[in-house]
Amino acid sequence: MNPKLLFWVPALLRLALVGVLSALVGWLATPRDGFAFAAMILLYFVGTQLHYLYRLSMWMDDPSSTRLPDGWGAWTAIFARLYRMRRDDERSQAELAEWLARFRQAMRLLPDGVAIMDDVLFLEWCNPAAERHLGLTLERDKGMRVTNLVRHPDFIDYVVLGRYEQPLTLSLRGRKLVVQIIPFENRRQILVTHDTTEAQRIEEMRRDFIANASHELRTPLTVIVGFLEIASTQKELDPATREAHLKLMTEQGHRMQRLIDDMLTLSRLESADYPLRPELVDMRALVEDVAGEARALSGGRHEVTVSIDGPDLMGSPEELRSAFANLASNAVRYTPEGGSVHISWSQSERGPRYAVSDTGIGIDQVHISRLTERFYRVDKSRSRETQGTGLGLAIVKHVLLRHGGQLSIESQPGKGSTFAATFPAA
Ligand code: ADP
Repeated sequence: MNPKLLFWVPALLRLALVGVLSALVGWLATPRDGFAFAAMILLYFVGTQLHYLYRLSMWMDDPSSTRLPDGWGAWTAIFARLYRMRRDDERSQAELAEWLARFRQAMRLLPDGVAIMDDVLFLEWCNPAAERHLGLTLERDKGMRVTNLVRHPDFIDYVVLGRYEQPLTLSLRGRKLVVQIIPFENRRQILVTHDTTEAQRIEEMRRDFIANASHELRTPLTVIVGFLEIASTQKELDPATREAHLKLMTEQGHRMQRLIDDMLTLSRLESADYPLRPELVDMRALVEDVAGEARALSGGRHEVTVSIDGPDLMGSPEELRSAFANLASNAVRYTPEGGSVHISWSQSERGPRYAVSDTGIGIDQVHISRLTERFYRVDKSRSRETQGTGLGLAIVKHVLLRHGGQLSIESQPGKGSTFAATFPAA
């Protein structure tokens, strides 16, 4: 029904009823009594309206839908409509608050920085990533000009020149950032920061790896190609020289093969398509095999001893063998003739431990933290002489990572080294 009619019809009906009743009283008694009766009823009406007006004004101080008063007469409809409006309002406010909370949470978790500035670049709001990237603290810096907060000349130029179509690459606080300003809502701008430090580090590593691997492969290949050219141009080479050339070519071929095998092993260890399939490994047999290989590599030039009293391990036998053999072969290769190598598998306080100690050339402290980098060698020529690929310890590191183990290196130049792999107790 039309709300106007809904309001006016009962009101007029009530007035008419008062009029009729007053006339009846006036007719039955005296006209004065009729007037007195009408005045009383109208006074009552006015009082009631004032009472509800008062309650309405009280409610408006704290307009909660649950505290809305009940009404009488036309007030019933008014309060009912107010109640519906208030309830809808409260619902949309709750939804809005929920959205805002969700938005804030998403912004907090976002790895990229987001800062909102007004048209004159005063900071209005930023998320924790922007605080980290740009060195801001929202509470402290809110309302300050961003160019006063980020005092980098490239950043200031970028902001002042206003060429925001292109992002800016910035080195700030030890990070490599990509920064872009996006104008929005006419009078506001969003500043987005993306941290590319890790991506650039990986890209650099990839470039270095390709450069190093190409270099490592080119050296033996150059030797082989050189000898092949000699063989094809000098048909009359004496058998002894030819024999020597063939021997060198075979050696270089083997070197390339070892390199490629190690590179493939590394890439397999890093690949997500090659998950670890753990099985119970017979550690006594494995360590004895590794010690046997070390003795064969030494060819009697070292004293190789072994002690085994650790438990069996859950892991990949091939990977563990490859890591353990790398550590044992390094000990033999970097220990001069007459030295000794001790291989042990034991149960230490921190968990099962594989250790190889040697009395070899040792390593200066400055190199130790870098030894597991690919192709990192303390002495390149010695590594090549002893048929090293420069990838052995990188393989060890990856195998240990996959088995939850940790590598520790202790060494003293001229005295010897101990490389130990400790595995989790369980
Ligand atoms: P490589 O194939 O050159 O031996 P690794 O990755 O196995 O490569 O080792 C990296 C470097 O660490 C070696 O080039 C060598 O300088 C040093 N190194 C490794 N093990 C030993 C050791 N037992 N004694 C001395 N130096 C070692």
